[in-house]
Amino acid sequence: MTDPVASGGLDGPLSAAASPASVLRPEVLAQSAYHVADARGMVKLDAMENPYPLPEVVREAVARRLAEVAVNRYPDAACHELKQRLRAAAGVPADAGLLLGNGSDEIIQMLALAVARPGAVILGVEPSFVMFRLLAGLAGARWVGVPLRADFSLDETALQEAIERHRPALALLAYPNNPTGNLFDRAVLERVIARLPGLAVVDEAYQAFAGDSFADALARFPNLLVMRTLSKLGLAGLRLGYLMGSPAWIGELEKLRLPYNINALTQAAATAILEHPEVLEGQAAALRAARGELAAALERLPGVTVFPSAANFLLLRVKSAPRVFDALKARGVLVKLADGSHPLMEGCLRVTVSTPEENRLFLQALDESLLS
Ligand SMILES: *Cc1c(COP(=O)(O)O)cnc(C)c1O
Repeated sequence: MTDPVASGGLDGPLSAAASPASVLRPEVLAQSAYHVADARGMVKLDAMENPYPLPEVVREAVARRLAEVAVNRYPDAACHELKQRLRAAAGVPADAGLLLGNGSDEIIQMLALAVARPGAVILGVEPSFVMFRLLAGLAGARWVGVPLRADFSLDETALQEAIERHRPALALLAYPNNPTGNLFDRAVLERVIARLPGLAVVDEAYQAFAGDSFADALARFPNLLVMRTLSKLGLAGLRLGYLMGSPAWIGELEKLRLPYNINALTQAAATAILEHPEVLEGQAAALRAARGELAAALERLPGVTVFPSAANFLLLRVKSAPRVFDALKARGVLVKLADGSHPLMEGCLRVTVSTPEENRLFLQALDESLLS
């Protein structure tokens, strides 16, 4: 029999029963699972969902399309029809490659797995989207999070130092950033991308609310990929994210994609909905207008600071955020408590911009919660 230790096998007495701690990788054991709050019966303003349903005609078109799906067959592994629709609807540059993910979360996972050789570093800023750090860790890469400045802008000097020191294989940068909501200074971000020795992925999950994109910078930066999702646009339940960039990068990353990661129902539904791009665009426009109105109303509340947002959520600072969060919850309004997640998030709550009616309910509940 071979010595299990010498062969890289498991430590411990041969008779010991398997336990998670004796079998699983330490980076798995060290993680806590992504927490999804129970929102049943609540005004749900914690996850940046689009509150508007699809119009009746589009729902009927989706229903007809779904009825035709041959669920006994594997889905189209190449997603031909969906990709064609997506290219047109999302303005993907004609010469760019396109990779689809079961949500952009899955694309982040593919990227992390692709670069995670021993010692590989994945760089980002903090605070930012928590899945970056989580998926880097699970893939076995080392996460380096460079703190933003107090006004949530990029610390260019600190980023340059981190790049020189750690030589990251991959940088994940959300534009606009979550949970802060701001767009970083574009010139600074471009200089950071130009300095990176590895791949730069700009995560544009909130592009529909931002009015800016790095898609037109793909031609200038050979190490740049742009990632987006349909989730915040109104299709969170379908799980569809996409990554665009040079076919050389996309072709390699395709090898990490499970062949049928986009199921047949998602392909059919998304294709049907993207035949009416004006629907989701109109809803995004309504949310952009509501964002301005909600921000103005919040600014009138004493003791509330509202940060500028280019996304479909607002970040607020209040006194005793955990208490206000609980008081909102007691009034049936679920927001995200950012306080406690990072020192820069002290006193912060993150709230999704919703319909005028839900925004009004939130404002009223907040007004009461601040006094309670
Ligand atoms: C919400 C969010 C995502 C996740 O998108 P899915 O496509 O739903 O997985 C990715 N990046 C950022 C910055 C987000 O805020």
